[in-house]
Amino acid sequence: MPGFEAIGEEEKIEVNDVFESGNILFRHGWDAQRNGVYKVKEFESQFSKFFGFKDCLAVTSGTSALKVAMKAMNINPGDEVITQAFTFVATVEAIIEVGAVPVICEIDETLNMDAEDLKKKITSKTKLIIPVHMLGTPADMNKIMELAKCFKIPVLEDTAWGCGGRLEGKNLGSFGDASTFSFDFGKIITTGEGGMVYLKDSEALARAKAYHDHGHENNPILPRWEDSRASSGFNYRMMELQGAVGLAQLRKLNQIIEAQRKTFSDLASEISDFKELRLRKSPNNSFETCDALVFMTSGLEESRKCREALLAEGFGTKILPEAITWHFAGTWDHMKELVNRNGNPSESFEVSRNYLHQCVALPVSIHQDNQRLIKLRNALKKVFK
Ligand SMILES: *Cc1c(COP(=O)(O)O)cnc(C)c1O
Repeated sequence: MPGFEAIGEEEKIEVNDVFESGNILFRHGWDAQRNGVYKVKEFESQFSKFFGFKDCLAVTSGTSALKVAMKAMNINPGDEVITQAFTFVATVEAIIEVGAVPVICEIDETLNMDAEDLKKKITSKTKLIIPVHMLGTPADMNKIMELAKCFKIPVLEDTAWGCGGRLEGKNLGSFGDASTFSFDFGKIITTGEGGMVYLKDSEALARAKAYHDHGHENNPILPRWEDSRASSGFNYRMMELQGAVGLAQLRKLNQIIEAQRKTFSDLASEISDFKELRLRKSPNNSFETCDALVFMTSGLEESRKCREALLAEGFGTKILPEAITWHFAGTWDHMKELVNRNGNPSESFEVSRNYLHQCVALPVSIHQDNQRLIKLRNALKKVFK
């Protein structure tokens, strides 16, 4: 969560650099006026270096990143795209936005995609699988990739919360054929609004670049107004001030995650002697970004009691249980495309619902003081006497 907590002088210097070097806020062109400053381009290049990508594409949001990636992967109307029951509503919105059919897979006790259920959801129409590293815990990418390879279906990792996390030493976002990141104001690093697209196949990435920029191929031998194009597109371009902030934030990514992991472990040890509670499981050899700490209770009633007690102490929760309606497909009866394919949401995804009702998620911040640990303990003591 705490990209915004880490904003400081470094971001201001990067933003000022844009104004002091020529006031060019657009990522393309004005080469003579901008004195060599291309913040979005540099952000893409530093991001690629950090992740070991050949190249990537900055866009306006994590949601548009999902859409741009799917467009570039030629996901067409009527194709089925499988994602998990526990994710932010944006993942399914993007599937609907490209005209595809969202197919919802259950989660397991890691609160991420259940590979067993995934296997059951694959049909001849399945054209993409989107696992999500929810709240910074890696999805079981080895199992998911194995299945995907076996059925020859591409995988897109929704890495909105997994930015900087690893599984068996490998960066999240580098397992699949594609991955997307979010830099909205609540994410690990932030540009206010923003996102990143990675596509392993360089032709697909070229399609993504053109699609997000009205079809522009940015042909180096042509001026932009005479640029070549092969298909229509849209506008999901990131602008220079966002790129500037992103550069400063990216340099802090490792520190942010270390700080979150420290806070997480302090919170975890504070609740370790409450025998009624257990921590969310994660795959072996996970390096989690620790965006939130999820503990499991006996069920919804107890989860709600925990939330009320935490609130009374001035210690909020994050997403679970209070904002489940934005993060659980079993509440999305407003999405007709989802209802048509998966049935009445309130009567579906029972396995996921059962897990999620047991969950309480605590926000994890960079600046943790002992007062918060005391508040946490006091709240839980009131619930578990
Ligand atoms: C935040 C988020 C998104 C969307 O990102 P925005 O930048 O807010 O559009 C997509 N998927 C997941 C899992 C997210 O948490």
